[in-house]
Amino acid sequence: MRAELDEAWHRTLGSGRFVGGPEVAAFEAEFAAYCEAANCVGVGNGTDALELVLEALGVGPGDEVVVPAATFVATAEAVVGVGAVPRFVDVDADTLLLDPAAVEAAIGPRTVAVVAVHLYGQMADLEALARVTDRYGLALVEDAAQAHGARLSGRRAGSVGVAAAFSFYPGKNLGALGDGGAVVTGDDALAARVRRAADHGRSDDDRHLHVVSGRNSRLDGLQAAVLRVKLRGLDAANAARVAAMAHYRAALPPGCVPLAVRPAADPVHHLAVVQVEDRAVTTRALTEAGIGWGLHYPVPCQRQPAFLRDGRPPVPLPVADAAARRVLSLPMSPTLTAEQVERVCAVLASVPALGGAA
Ligand SMILES: *Cc1c(COP(=O)(O)O)cnc(C)c1O
Repeated sequence: MRAELDEAWHRTLGSGRFVGGPEVAAFEAEFAAYCEAANCVGVGNGTDALELVLEALGVGPGDEVVVPAATFVATAEAVVGVGAVPRFVDVDADTLLLDPAAVEAAIGPRTVAVVAVHLYGQMADLEALARVTDRYGLALVEDAAQAHGARLSGRRAGSVGVAAAFSFYPGKNLGALGDGGAVVTGDDALAARVRRAADHGRSDDDRHLHVVSGRNSRLDGLQAAVLRVKLRGLDAANAARVAAMAHYRAALPPGCVPLAVRPAADPVHHLAVVQVEDRAVTTRALTEAGIGWGLHYPVPCQRQPAFLRDGRPPVPLPVADAAARRVLSLPMSPTLTAEQVERVCAVLASVPALGGAA
C-alpha cells in the first residue's frame, strides 16, 4: 500500500487541513456507506467513540450499563467515563459473546443501556439482545472495535444498534497509522450531538458559541486519508482473515478448540482465538518455535482492580472466568500465508497435551 499511502500523505500535507477537513468528510461518507448506516462521525479513538455515544444517549451518574465480562477494558471504561456503573455479565460458552439470558437477568431499575461487543470479529446476537432491550426500553449499543465489515443475518456491524463505536487503532481490521475512531449511527440527531460534543460543544452556525461543555476528540486529516486507502482494501483483507481461520480450523490438533461461529454470522476474524487446557505448555512451545501469540484477555473485566467497587469482591462469572484461563490468540493477519498457518499448527500438534498426531 506504500505508493497509495504516500500519495494520501502528500495530498493532505498540501491541503494544510490537519484536523477535520475534506479528507475526514470524505472518509466519514465512505465509511457510513460501507457500514450501510446513515451517519459516521470521526473521533479521536474507539474508547471516546463509545463514551460519546453513551453521553449522547444521556447515560450518566446513577445509571447502570450492562457489558460483557469478556472484552477489552475500554468497553467498561467508557461506562465509568460518563459516570455510570458497568454491570458485568457472563458470555456464551461457544462464542464468548454476550449471553442474552444473562443480560435479561442483570437488568434492574437503574439499567439504561446494553453494550454488545462484537468480540474477535463476530457480531454478538443482536437479534436476541434487541428482543430484551426492546422489552425493557433500553438502548442497544454496538462496540464494533473488532468487527469492521462483519455481518449478522446480512446486516453490517454498525447498522443494527442505536449506534456503534469503531476503533481505528493500528492493529484493528481497519487500522490507521495512529489513533482514530468513529461513531456510526442511523440516528441523525444522535450523530449531531456526538459531533458537537467531540468538537468543544460548538454551535452549528457560530463557531464561537459553545452550547454544551464538550471535549476535543476529532479525527486527523492525515489519518482519514490513510483510512480511505485502507478502506478500499478492507473486504479483501477480511476475506484473507476468513481463509486463514478456515485453514486453522482444518489443521489444528484436537486440543486447540476454536470458537463457534453462529449460522447467521459472517465474522471478520480480528483474532484467531482458540481455547486450550494447558496454556502454559502451549505458549512455551510456540515461543520456543519463534511463533508469536497473545492473550485476549487473561483477566475478565469484573476482576480488574479498576472496576472493583467499595472493596467488594468480584462476582464469579463461570464462563468468562474459565475462558480467561484458556483463551490463546494465534497469529492472524491478512498477510498470513498458508505455510505460516501450517507451521503454527505443526508446532501445536507437537505438544502432547494437545493430542496432536506428531
Ligand atoms: C480496541 C478496542 C476498544 C478501544 O478502542 P481504542 O481506539 O483503542 O480506544 C474498545 N473496545 C474493544 C472491544 C476494543 O477491542
